[in-house]
Amino acid sequence: MPNDQQPTETILILGGTKEAANLAKELVAAKPEARIITSLAGRTKEPAPLDGEVRTGGFGGIEGLARYLHETGVTRLIDATHPFARQISANAIEAAKLAGVPLDIRTRTPWAKQPGDNWIEVKTLEQARDAIPPRARVLLALGSQHIGLFATRDDVHFVVRMNDPPEQPLELPDHALILGRPGDTPAVETMLLIAHSITHIVCRNSGGKSAYAKIEAARELRLPVIMVGRSG
Ligand code: NAP
Repeated sequence: MPNDQQPTETILILGGTKEAANLAKELVAAKPEARIITSLAGRTKEPAPLDGEVRTGGFGGIEGLARYLHETGVTRLIDATHPFARQISANAIEAAKLAGVPLDIRTRTPWAKQPGDNWIEVKTLEQARDAIPPRARVLLALGSQHIGLFATRDDVHFVVRMNDPPEQPLELPDHALILGRPGDTPAVETMLLIAHSITHIVCRNSGGKSAYAKIEAARELRLPVIMVGRSG
């Protein structure tokens, strides 16, 4: 947007996902007159660079977000957050109403079970923990904040994959830590599952493409996936 012009539109994307980053890129390219702002919670230490503007940190609840929308002159709010980021999505609905700003909800739809999938479907992470059989070798595909819940399972070997190194040592008694993002293809994920002799995957039904490769790999290897649904 040229400096001497007022933006025709100001779009706020609630982000923190690959889809939100792609959307920012598309909107910046398609709407050069508009101001495109992505909001991040600030959980990731070194987020990948984003097109357009970036703001970081919580808004301070519904009222804080409504105030930000009003003060920044936001004309459209887009919720492209992770589907399990429920608080910010709930806040977005109420804040958009308060500020009188249209809200576009673009959160991912859940994955649907396909022929060949062996899913053990549960509602909560606690149920997922309890569904793991003794002596299993589990790929625990969850955010770091959920790992501690599995610490009581000292009869299980966990393989944990994280983007950032954990700030505290993981509480899991028996585990291997892999630093990095999920593999892009089922072949890469299959290699990982075989290399670690994984017998089960525990994950949440996040939907979207980037985390789906492990689900396809599990189908290929006929491994059970303990899948936490969105209703819990
Ligand atoms: P959450 O529980 O829904 O949100 C907790 C609080 O964090 C919100 O009330 C808000 O604080 C702040 N917040 C969350 N997302 C924000 C955003 N995009 N911009 C500014 N503030 C935000 O969220 P969460 O599960 O902790 O997820 C945080 C972020 O990580 C989200 O942006 C999400 O897209 C991304 N993410 C989450 C997951 C996941 O599994 N939950 C996975 C991948 C990425 P205030 O009330 O102070 O505004």
